[in-house]
Amino acid sequence: MAKETLGFQTEVKQLLQLMIHSLYSNKEIFLRELISNASDACDKLRFEALNDASLYGDDSELKISLSFDKEARTLTLSDNGIGMSRDEVVKNIGTIARSGTKEFFGKLSGDAQKDANLIGQFGVGFYSAFIVADKVTLTSRRAGETTATQWESAGDGEFTLEEVAKEGRGTEIVLHLKEGEDEYLSDWSLRSIIRKYSDHITLPIFMPKTAGYDDEGNVTPAEGVEAVNQASALWARPKSEISDEQYTEFYKHVSHDFEAPLAWSHARVEGKQEYTELLYIPKRAPFDMHDRERRHGIKLYVRRVFIMEDAEKLLPQYLRFVRGLIDSSNLPLNVSREILQHSKDIEQIKQGCVKKVLGLLESMANSDDAAEQAKYATFWEQFGRVMKEGVAEDFANKDRIAGLLRFASSHTDSTDQNVSLAAYVGRMKEGQDKIYFITADSFAAAKNSPHLEVFRKKGIEVLLMSERVDEWMISGLTEFDGKKLQSVTKGELDLSNFENEEEKQQQEAAASELKDVLDKVKAVLGDKVKDVRVTNRLTDSPACIVVENQDMSANLERLLKSAGQDVKGSKPILEINPEHMLVKKLKAELEGERFGDWTELLFDQAQLAEGAQLDDPATFVKRLNSLMISVAA
Ligand code: ADP
Ligand code: MG
Repeated sequence: MAKETLGFQTEVKQLLQLMIHSLYSNKEIFLRELISNASDACDKLRFEALNDASLYGDDSELKISLSFDKEARTLTLSDNGIGMSRDEVVKNIGTIARSGTKEFFGKLSGDAQKDANLIGQFGVGFYSAFIVADKVTLTSRRAGETTATQWESAGDGEFTLEEVAKEGRGTEIVLHLKEGEDEYLSDWSLRSIIRKYSDHITLPIFMPKTAGYDDEGNVTPAEGVEAVNQASALWARPKSEISDEQYTEFYKHVSHDFEAPLAWSHARVEGKQEYTELLYIPKRAPFDMHDRERRHGIKLYVRRVFIMEDAEKLLPQYLRFVRGLIDSSNLPLNVSREILQHSKDIEQIKQGCVKKVLGLLESMANSDDAAEQAKYATFWEQFGRVMKEGVAEDFANKDRIAGLLRFASSHTDSTDQNVSLAAYVGRMKEGQDKIYFITADSFAAAKNSPHLEVFRKKGIEVLLMSERVDEWMISGLTEFDGKKLQSVTKGELDLSNFENEEEKQQQEAAASELKDVLDKVKAVLGDKVKDVRVTNRLTDSPACIVVENQDMSANLERLLKSAGQDVKGSKPILEINPEHMLVKKLKAELEGERFGDWTELLFDQAQLAEGAQLDDPATFVKRLNSLMISVAA
């Protein structure tokens, strides 16, 4: 087939431009990316060869080789991995077929330093070659095929494709280095980059042997090649022999993250299942954390052989931010995805890993060390929302997860979620037997809710919840440490332990005095309410809305409706505050012609204070205006 010229997908062009401009201060990572692709390609071959050993041909020693040519200004990286067919070349290095690409571009700020981090998360990959090269030639032959495909591009919007001959399977990439990129034509600096970023690659990375250097630092050549990296699986080495830097570099390799991890757990587990786990918690939530098709997760190895990468089977959804690997000693090598799906062994490994991750989080959360606590605060800020899903998802570990939860509180002044349930229980007032909370659709709505008035007055703490996941979480969390969790917007509020005789009598008197008013308000509102009663929740507001304990909260109803669900909401109960001027006014109007208007207004504003939308805002405004005028007159 003749040579063809094709255009890059628009996103690729954009990514290329961004990368070249954002990553100039971190150029050398291109080598890490290309080596990581070569290593992945060898992993894939090894995996496919489990079912078809003939793919190896007569070349079963998987390896990566790097060489350079100072005169020609080229750097050549080759592997004898799986290789790519023509179609695969077009698909893999001409397009970005990844969900979330649009969101990704939307998040870029134009600030090179910040964008560099994002680009790192997105996966810089193959295109990073263009940071240092003005032309890249890739020749690839897929294992089992006889012809190869040559791909060439100057990174400017087009690439060419040509069928060529290539000896042996795998991929060879030639970088034609830009003017000034002489660093990558130096034996010494290439070796140090490999050691820095790719030491943990489990395959040998070969470079031509050197006999030494001359006065100008040029290599005096020797016969043959030698491996530059350690080429042993990092996770299989004893912990004591692994430095923090090595753990960090390995994390960057498995997670495609630019930043160092927040924490990690590395252990060899003996027993019924024998495996090594090396699990990391990132410092920052990836941009696709809420994306079902996100790509990176936990890698599964069996006796050092890479099997697959799959977050869902190896850890539950709510721990989907964890990165790393599991290397099993007793699973069979020919495991398939289907087998994994129903495997008891995998289930046991999964349970074990969940415990490790929870333990790692607990050790940060419960540490006396301020640095560890700060780490936990970072963790919670980034991943708290996801962890909250665990309360409902992981029944067996519910109590441990509950212990890790953090909330904003009426007792602190910030929006930070930093109060644990244990801390709340520790400072409960004498006579208090419940953990009080409020859910609302924003922090401000929760914090300023009229429902908190009496709690403020009595000095009782209320946890403030305003994330979407909170409603779901709280439905799975009814108790902590033997104390019931109680929404302050539901049911009859029993604060009898905090009220003195005088207050109780006052309330009863107020209720009987207001009987006529309550009856008439009920008559006016009719179907809109389940009941109208005197409140003990309010000190400053005239009225509020509550629902029965077993009913759906108004906040949840709104969330579901906004998500397009057709929910039959529960009827609210209107509670009114006998001490409030407006209620006194209402009482005075009992026989007046404006009683209906006052009542509707009271009901509507109680709903507004909840964060609800009125069915008929125009009428509300009209009524309000007319009453204001009548008062002003
Ligand atoms: P990623 O590695 O995150 O998938 P890259 O941009 O690094 O993204 O690579 C894109 C794809 O190109 C890879 O997923 C792989 O399918 C293919 N590829 C890249 N390099 C090689 C290689 N050396 N051998 C085989 N396939 C490769
Ligand atoms: Mg890659």
